[in-house]
Amino acid sequence: MSDCIFCRIVNGEIPSTRVYEDDLVLAFEDIHPMAPVHCIVVPKIHIATLMDVTSDLMPYVGAMTAAAQEVAKRKGISEKGFRTVINCNAEGGQVVFHLHMHVLGGRKLRDELG
Ligand code: 5GP
Ligand code: ZN
Repeated sequence: MSDCIFCRIVNGEIPSTRVYEDDLVLAFEDIHPMAPVHCIVVPKIHIATLMDVTSDLMPYVGAMTAAAQEVAKRKGISEKGFRTVINCNAEGGQVVFHLHMHVLGGRKLRDELG
């Protein structure tokens, strides 16, 4: 989708600091980090929300999970711990409507989620 920020990052039309990528997914630094480590993992195809993941698209979700592991290793937080978050739709706090997983860490995260 040409008007989607994350599609444009995948295509290289908008610059980003890439942390990991493979055939299915891309991970890059969040532009407004909420923690010392804050990366975003996206599928390389446009999927609007978690609710749009049909069974044929499940490989992308698996690849996102594997990419989160790789990001955690590369950022040195795999042992200390980190948090993954997928916001879905308005009340879930989703702002960019291209499926993405936040990978947050590098400090003690607060217990509350919201
Ligand atoms: P959401 O609230 O939709 O779950 O999170 C969207 C995230 O994307 C936010 O953390 C925001 O900082 C990040 N973001 C939005 N636009 C850009 C951008 O152009 N580049 C990068 N690297 N991150 C972005
Ligand atoms: Zn998109």
